Amino acid sequence: AVRLEITMSRFWSPIVHSLIPYVAGEQPTAGGITKLNTNESPYGPSPLVLEAISKAASDTLRLYPDPTARELRAAIAESFGIDKDEVFVGNGSDEVLAHTFQALLNHERPLLFPDISYSFYPTYCRLYGIAYQQVPVDAEMRICLDDYRQPCGAIILPNPNAPTGIGLPQDDIESLLKYHPDQVVVIDEAYVDFGGESAVPLVGTYPNLLVIQTLSKSRGLAGLRVGFAVGQRPLIEALERVKDSFNSYPLDRLALAGAVAAWKDRDWFDRHRAMIIASRERLAVALKALGFHVLPSSANFLFARHPNRAGAELTAELRSRGILTRRFSADRISDFLRISIGTDEECDRLLAALGEIL
Ligand code: PMP
Repeated sequence: AVRLEITMSRFWSPIVHSLIPYVAGEQPTAGGITKLNTNESPYGPSPLVLEAISKAASDTLRLYPDPTARELRAAIAESFGIDKDEVFVGNGSDEVLAHTFQALLNHERPLLFPDISYSFYPTYCRLYGIAYQQVPVDAEMRICLDDYRQPCGAIILPNPNAPTGIGLPQDDIESLLKYHPDQVVVIDEAYVDFGGESAVPLVGTYPNLLVIQTLSKSRGLAGLRVGFAVGQRPLIEALERVKDSFNSYPLDRLALAGAVAAWKDRDWFDRHRAMIIASRERLAVALKALGFHVLPSSANFLFARHPNRAGAELTAELRSRGILTRRFSADRISDFLRISIGTDEECDRLLAALGEIL
């Protein structure tokens, strides 16, 4: 293996040596697995999504997609009461985040984000050469906003935070926007639909705010890869410049058709997110009854640790019973499991397995 690396490295650009690639959660190919490890929706998307994709597949695949994604941006903009030019779309919010890091965060002063947070942020900082500083969360794993009142290049916060699930109120975000009028503040709202407070209503007032959301979680479309950003025109225009310098088709035709249908099926969205929230609350109570310490979650997952069992041991025991959960190796959280909310039946399977293990 070492020889191979030395041989390969002759051909690597200098930046490749400095990268810290993000490792995504496991996607097993075998059936019969209870998959609670990557925060997908346990429910399929709205049936209207499947209809729209199949129609787009039979009618339009020979044509290039709309490079401006006009219909999707208009649908998103309408529901937020903003202009479609204040919406930017991309292949999952990961791609929108990547463009954001490149377009808006390349300052000499550091980008601030929590030390327990989405692990793609340091990866993008390395990729784009952005200085960063990780701000510690407190003993209860909460983000302390006062610690962000310091000179910086920009700020990015997931709200609710990942992998803790803890949300910040809109007022706190607003006070940060006021404190840093000359810095871009990015709020990553991947999980906001499960009980978080969105910063989207603040976009009209604060030119320094960019809010990023995804259709992967609450719309059940992780496999389609659709995410978007909302912000005032100059921020969106910067993202468009980067996108047009990279791939002028933000989404393929199937993704565009499916995303528009998902966005417009408000009834499906409201029903399914309410189901996930109800399952989360039920699972939290049951985990506490088993002795777990469970952080308060506004997301579609719970972050929990058991005082008597190591995280590595618990994930391995669950895995041997066909249940996947996620564990992070970072210091303060290595004994926590991040458990995605499944159907009530899947949550019961998890609880039964934990009953055997503990
Ligand atoms: N932000 C956070 C905080 C996440 O946890 C995730 C999911 N891994 C994403 C963004 C990216 O989601 P997607 O690319 O599927 O939109």
